Amino acid sequence: MKQSIAIIGSGFSSLAASCYLAKQGHEITIYEKNASIGGRARQFKKNGFTFDMGPTWYWMPDVFERFFSDFNKTPSQYYDLIKLNPAYSVYFGIDDAITIEDSLEKIKLAFEKEEPGSSKKLQQFMDEALDNYNIAIKDLVYRPGVSPLELVTPVTMKKIGQFFSTISKEVRKEFKNPKLISILEFPVLFLGAKPSNTPAFYSFMNYADFGMGTFHPKNGMYSVIDGMQQLALELGVTIRTNQNVEKIILQKNKVHSLLVNGEEIPAHIVLSGADYHHTETLLPPRFRQYSESYWEKKVFAPSSLLFYVGFDKKLTNVNHHTLFFDVPFESHAQDIYDQPKWPEDPLFYASFPSKTDAEAAPEGQEAGIFLIPLAPGLDDIEEVREEYFEKIMDRFEAITQQEVKKNVIFKEAYCINDFIEDYNSYKGNAYGLANTLFQTAFLRPKLKSKKVKGLYFTGQLTVPGPGVPPSLISGKVVSGLIQKDIDSL
Ligand SMILES: Cc1cc2nc3c(=O)[nH]c(=O)nc-3n(C[C@H](O)[C@H](O)[C@H](O)COP(=O)(O)OP(=O)(O)OC[C@H]3O[C@@H](n4cnc5c(N)ncnc54)[C@H](O)[C@@H]3O)c2cc1C
Repeated sequence: MKQSIAIIGSGFSSLAASCYLAKQGHEITIYEKNASIGGRARQFKKNGFTFDMGPTWYWMPDVFERFFSDFNKTPSQYYDLIKLNPAYSVYFGIDDAITIEDSLEKIKLAFEKEEPGSSKKLQQFMDEALDNYNIAIKDLVYRPGVSPLELVTPVTMKKIGQFFSTISKEVRKEFKNPKLISILEFPVLFLGAKPSNTPAFYSFMNYADFGMGTFHPKNGMYSVIDGMQQLALELGVTIRTNQNVEKIILQKNKVHSLLVNGEEIPAHIVLSGADYHHTETLLPPRFRQYSESYWEKKVFAPSSLLFYVGFDKKLTNVNHHTLFFDVPFESHAQDIYDQPKWPEDPLFYASFPSKTDAEAAPEGQEAGIFLIPLAPGLDDIEEVREEYFEKIMDRFEAITQQEVKKNVIFKEAYCINDFIEDYNSYKGNAYGLANTLFQTAFLRPKLKSKKVKGLYFTGQLTVPGPGVPPSLISGKVVSGLIQKDIDSL
């Protein structure tokens, strides 16, 4: 039965869902409040520079292939991928960096140099990580998080210990060198929680990192959004921007219509890819499933202070992705998760897409994206942003041994208030709800409303979790659930 389905938001999860639902023959309209689509993955352009505003790491290429193959397409029909070599480098101080190259064999050599005997342990760790990848990313994450039984399979039962141990513990059992420990703990930061609070089973992220590598879509991550938009349009999806959804209107306990920019638009089904908490505020209070105190108690992934910077020269001693782990991780992590406050000495990440992609900056110039992870909900004021820019630029100059401050043509800051203003993000979180043990699978906010018939959710606050690949998967899983419900009508 053909249904008219209204989708709120145009992030990766919404776009993915729109494709699956259109393929099923439904009439799909996406309503996006912003002027451009892509949600947190929007693009910012200025003076010939182009910046991805959110995601910059393209990991798990198999998930993108699987998405496009569901429509008998391949990613290469929509965008070009470049495998980065090196994948990234990590600074621990002046003249003290480890470079992660594009194959496990090369990475093993780098490990061996730092800690004799570690390459063999790394191979064992990666064998386990691959095994976990095959269980999790090829299978478990495609389950809808409806029941705990989804996680109970003969293979997961063998790994039960890994759900109750943490990445931190497992890495420390095998590796003693603090730099190698930091590098092995880095991938799970994408899941939004501390490695000491992330189940060891999530080592599949290490396989994504070392086993599969880091890619850069030509012209940036936004070319993936462009590609998905093109596919959605080919499938007949209507995409409308500058459309702020103000209310979900119900008839009794069933979806009836949306109020968009003051106009009532009927819909049989509403699927929201906007932040979960915000979507529920569009409903009358008694139809919300989760209370304010529920959200208050959840572990959110960090927010971020970002700077998009145009430099009037090429920078040296940096790679496309460069991490600055030259200060202790633990105290910064405490400031994010334990006693939320602005960090004294933050770790930060820098990306220079123009190292790979000539389109990202005018010739002879460099585009730089700087990211400091922060606790959501902090007071975000202009002077503090400025103070942190100075702080990280000073460290950047010292560590990479070059002057850059005087080469800044422009900089744009983006922080908590912008995440709230632009995306209706809860407390200004950047990438959703963390994947801790108690916020995994069936323990996450549900894809389907228990109180409103015809209302569904997708995206990084629901299953499977934060990140671009999980958002694509979320779109697929929720579409399956919706189709199943339509078939049973
Ligand atoms: C700074 C940053 C760096 C990141 N880095 C990476 C990375 O390197 N690799 C990676 O894989 N992932 C990364 N992520 C995570 C990844 O970008 C997200 O998980 C993913 O893009 C989330 O997609 P989504 O569909 O869940 O939501 P969103 O992208 O947030 O989409 C939600 C959409 O809903 C719209 N909306 C909200 N309210 C309304 C309303 N009332 N009416 C209409 N529309 C509305 C919003 O405008 C938005 O477009 C990063 C995220 C950020 C912010």
